[in-house]
Amino acid sequence: MTMDRRTFSLGGIGLAALAASQPAFAARKAKKAAPAIAPRKPGQSDVIVLGAGVSGLQAAWMLEQEGKTVTVIEARERVGGRIWTLLDQPGYPEMGFNSMAEGYGRGLDAANRAGVEMVEVGARFRYGAPPLLWMNGKPMTRAEWAAFPGNPLPDKLKMLLPGEVVGKLVSDNNRLADWSSWHDPANAALDISLYAFLKGQGLSDAAIHLCWDLSPYYGTNAWDVSTLMMEYNDGFVKGQMAAGTKSLSVKGGNIHLATGMARLLKGDVLLGREVVAITQDGGTATVHTADGATFSAPHVICSLPFSALRNVKVLPALEGPQAQAVGQLGYQPISMVFATATAPFWDEDKLAPGMWTDGPLGTVMPQRYGATPEEITGFIVQARGNLALYWDRMGAEAAKAMVVRQIETLRPAAKGKVAAHSYFSWAGERFNGGDVSFFGPGQVQWLDEMIKPAGRVHFCGEHTAQGARGLEGALESAERVALEVLTA
Ligand SMILES: Cc1cc2nc3c(=O)[nH]c(=O)nc-3n(C[C@H](O)[C@H](O)[C@H](O)COP(=O)(O)OP(=O)(O)OC[C@H]3O[C@@H](n4cnc5c(N)ncnc54)[C@H](O)[C@@H]3O)c2cc1C
Repeated sequence: MTMDRRTFSLGGIGLAALAASQPAFAARKAKKAAPAIAPRKPGQSDVIVLGAGVSGLQAAWMLEQEGKTVTVIEARERVGGRIWTLLDQPGYPEMGFNSMAEGYGRGLDAANRAGVEMVEVGARFRYGAPPLLWMNGKPMTRAEWAAFPGNPLPDKLKMLLPGEVVGKLVSDNNRLADWSSWHDPANAALDISLYAFLKGQGLSDAAIHLCWDLSPYYGTNAWDVSTLMMEYNDGFVKGQMAAGTKSLSVKGGNIHLATGMARLLKGDVLLGREVVAITQDGGTATVHTADGATFSAPHVICSLPFSALRNVKVLPALEGPQAQAVGQLGYQPISMVFATATAPFWDEDKLAPGMWTDGPLGTVMPQRYGATPEEITGFIVQARGNLALYWDRMGAEAAKAMVVRQIETLRPAAKGKVAAHSYFSWAGERFNGGDVSFFGPGQVQWLDEMIKPAGRVHFCGEHTAQGARGLEGALESAERVALEVLTA
């Protein structure tokens, strides 16, 4: 299986993924303001939806199609949640959701309804020289890495770059005959740590550290992550690959998908209203917002990531595995700097623009979203896991300066040519507390319990998906929750 941005986005881990985590295809155009949704006046509703990410918006739309009145309450001053495009930067870099595969039936349907144009972006991130591996400050090609005395991989894997190893091992050795059975209690004994799985595949501690912990797709190290969840992810990605090889993003920025979905709603989408408590009394659920307002309805749908629900008082309190999951489900630390270059220093030093480093720079991913793919519109420099948390502690300005300094140190030809414009930390976002959710070893058993309604409060969101991942999983969860409310 070749690794491309899609597999990266969905949990494949590849150096080819350096080209990943990319923005939507967009020609460089005049600056545009973020599309605004005007707050509407609250009214009495059949259902209150908490959170205006894609899962909340989709659930609200589905219920409206069935004649329900719905109010959506969102803490941020914008819709979209983990869809977030920097519309004021060249190429419209994506800080969140990147692309969907051809098999994203729900995603493509939502895009169609929202009236946005999807464009193929896969060729753009595969364009140009493959990114180089930078170990101890020195660049290496794949062949040089394979022959490098410090390569800790078993002989048969030495040709793989560190970021490709785990995805390949999980893919080749997936223990699930049917990946959709990943949360079946019959498979609970398989819910071991990724570390244990990788040891079983013959990797040394040094190899696991290099291939996962330095830039983990999930968690901060291989002990944090459930192998079952990785196998589920792998099965989903294989299914998507079978459906087609295109990677699709929204022309002009993925954020337009969310604003388009919000515009389809008849009911209120209230922005800037942080939910601080959810209470239930008899036949009514009441939502309390930070400004002192309350909203009551027979049903509440909560799409908040559990990392955000953690800050909300829920009465009566949640219990059992559901309470455990709200308290402990992992969310991926990931931080990004968007930078541009005033001159093509990569032509000068004749080295690939993309970099996967074992140092504090993390990964450097060229963005090719100009009129032609030759044009590099900027770089997303990305840190994951502990490195992301380190950057966050440094603070935005220091991290931006560090990134520029590191690039200039590793590549003298870049001196004076790189400028860092923005810093974005998903762990630092109050209303997300991390990128995507992940299950730790032994935690997959929470899934079936944690998605059950608690009285009149129903749950959806990416973290509650059972048969799809990423944005498609968020939309899948919206279908389940809408049906749940309709049949309650
Ligand atoms: C960096 C990154 C890259 C990604 N790339 C891909 C990709 O390429 N392909 C893919 O399929 N998926 C990708 N994803 C995942 C995808 O973006 C998510 O699965 C999806 O957007 C999640 O939608 P959601 O509705 O479940 O959650 P969210 O979008 O997080 O929505 C939850 C909403 O709740 C709101 N909220 C939180 N707390 C409160 C509160 N107290 N009161 C009121 N509102 C609150 C939030 O502001 C937010 O709007 C990526 C995600 C990230 C972060």
